[in-house]
Amino acid sequence: MAKEELECSFCGRKKPETNLLIAGLDAHICDRCIEQAHGIVIEESKQSDSSDLSAELKLRKPQQIKAFLDEYIIGQNMTKKIMSVAVYNHYKRLLQPLSKDDIDIQKSNIIMVGQTGTGKTLMAKTIARMLNVPLAIVDATVLTEAGYVGEDVESILTRLLQAADYNLEKAEKGIVFIDEIDKIARKSDNPSITRDVSGEGVQQALLKLLEGTVVNVPPKGGRKHPDQKFIEVNTENILFIAGGAFDGIDRIISKRLNMQAVGYSASMSDDVVDQDHLLQYIIPKDLKDFGLIPEIIGRLPVLTYMDPLDADTLRAILTEPKNAIIKQYKKLFEMDDIDFTITDGALNFIVNKAIEYKLGARGLRSLCEEILTDAMFELPSSNEKKLNVTKVYAEDKLTKTTLKKLKAVS
Ligand code: ADP
Repeated sequence: MAKEELECSFCGRKKPETNLLIAGLDAHICDRCIEQAHGIVIEESKQSDSSDLSAELKLRKPQQIKAFLDEYIIGQNMTKKIMSVAVYNHYKRLLQPLSKDDIDIQKSNIIMVGQTGTGKTLMAKTIARMLNVPLAIVDATVLTEAGYVGEDVESILTRLLQAADYNLEKAEKGIVFIDEIDKIARKSDNPSITRDVSGEGVQQALLKLLEGTVVNVPPKGGRKHPDQKFIEVNTENILFIAGGAFDGIDRIISKRLNMQAVGYSASMSDDVVDQDHLLQYIIPKDLKDFGLIPEIIGRLPVLTYMDPLDADTLRAILTEPKNAIIKQYKKLFEMDDIDFTITDGALNFIVNKAIEYKLGARGLRSLCEEILTDAMFELPSSNEKKLNVTKVYAEDKLTKTTLKKLKAVS
């Protein structure tokens, strides 16, 4: 008797018509039906996602939010605390039932001031991950006023839609991280300056988004697809976090503090100003003096700062966070049954090089990569099952040329 031809129990396609036919107990399924079923599962889970946020918030109070941040971010305690409260309040506002009283909780958009590489983006990423909301990271320097070369401010929302897989409801509760906000500061303190394409105009355009408005967003972004249909995005519940290095703002802070000291000589001179960490004294007026327009500052009401990273912090970043760089390498080697260890001497060496070459936290990864590339290339196909990286080993792998190269790209 001819062997019965196998077929997909869902669509009836015969085995030769499929790429893959998987057998179950009493049935078969083909690759196309698997893909379709997968799509249905994703769609279904998207619909149940909207309740995630309230569940998440019920679970996490500000102290728990901070504890979550602690797992991924070293130090920056003040910012973590301020962020925890701001994020908690923002999403509480979002979950509030339509208020009968007239108390309208305002948005708690945040602005973080601190040198590059101190963890501003990481902070935004970690919060988005915790809340399981989409995150768009945008660079303020590419934004221009509509009609000029560069990206319109609306492109920020295109990114957010993309991050939310075009699920509008999710996007409208997402987080936008605007990096390098300091780069769109007004170049001169003179407001009558005629045209400042990348400065004040962009700040004005940003205002509406920050405040909460309905924006027509081209889903594919840009002006390359003029025929696309716009999607209306309401920014009312989107949390905006802005970050910037604000190079030179310490001089503005210092000047203000000195003037205060003169003004209130008796009381202020008793307070010792920590000249090395002036950012901790930052107030909104300093941002205004730097060149942000007061309206923008007003719409980013939560102001906080990031501490510069010292050697101890860098050292901790290498090994302590939940997904610390060294832990990641350990896992990678483990997959090849290789036991990877690194000595304190080698860790200190890496930290010192990062400081000496001003590579910051970002440089730690590149330094490790340079040191470990040979081992990662050779060991998987050798019989060696152990790798102990010592200071000597690290020194040997990091030549002056590679260090110079790292400095050039950082
Ligand atoms: P910024 O946005 O301030 O320029 P990033 O958040 O991009 O800095 O930081 C760069 C990288 O440095 C991060 O991916 C992270 O690995 C590391 N890093 C920086 N600061 C910290 C920190 N405080 N704790 C843990 N990792 C950090």
